[in-house]
Amino acid sequence: MRLDKYLTECGIGSRSEVKKILKNKEISVNGKVVMSPKVNIEKTDNIKYRNETIIYKEYRYYVINKPSGCITATEDNKQKTIMDILPSWVIKKNLFPVGRLDKDTEGLLLLTNNGVLAHKLLSPKKHVEKVYYVIGKKEISDEDMLRLENGIDIGGYITKKANCKRVSNNEINLTISEGRFHQVKKMLHGINNEVVYLKRIRFANLTLKDLKVGEVIEVEKKEITSYEV
Ligand code: URA
Repeated sequence: MRLDKYLTECGIGSRSEVKKILKNKEISVNGKVVMSPKVNIEKTDNIKYRNETIIYKEYRYYVINKPSGCITATEDNKQKTIMDILPSWVIKKNLFPVGRLDKDTEGLLLLTNNGVLAHKLLSPKKHVEKVYYVIGKKEISDEDMLRLENGIDIGGYITKKANCKRVSNNEINLTISEGRFHQVKKMLHGINNEVVYLKRIRFANLTLKDLKVGEVIEVEKKEITSYEV
């Protein structure tokens, strides 16, 4: 692989940034400073940037605290997508969101270039848990919570068992292990209520921690699930 391509894929910078870095003699290959972006390198070569060995990662995992107002898609002609708001240090090549959050939903969204893992995490058979913080337009009674937990008709489909924790009289944390289109909103409709604010706070083992809205962090595969999905 060409050195400039390799450095870009490792997240050192964009093609033009990498060019500058090479010009500044900040890259060495097997102990020798290399300035040409065209040099061919092997995965076994020891490549250093400012004296730090670069580790090549085939798969990358990022968590964003999605803001409301952008759609969960890789591209769109009219609307702002999640890809449009990623910071420049994120390596966007082959990156896609794992599942979908509505345009007006905030919260945890995983992005990766690992299609196999994404497929497993989204498979209904795997029962991967998602936790949503929900604000209802009206009070959510204990009886409503039981109905949400036991399964509710969302238009010809009865939702699977869920878990509901009260936050206040109209706020809950709802844990579901499936991901039907508009599921949480439809579940709230099922109890004659309406979602006024929705935020995903957990996906598998990933939590938002103190990630601010719009912020992104890179995570390791082992942080996503503690079991083999
Ligand atoms: N359920 C919804 O209704 N919307 C989302 O964005 C996620 C889950």
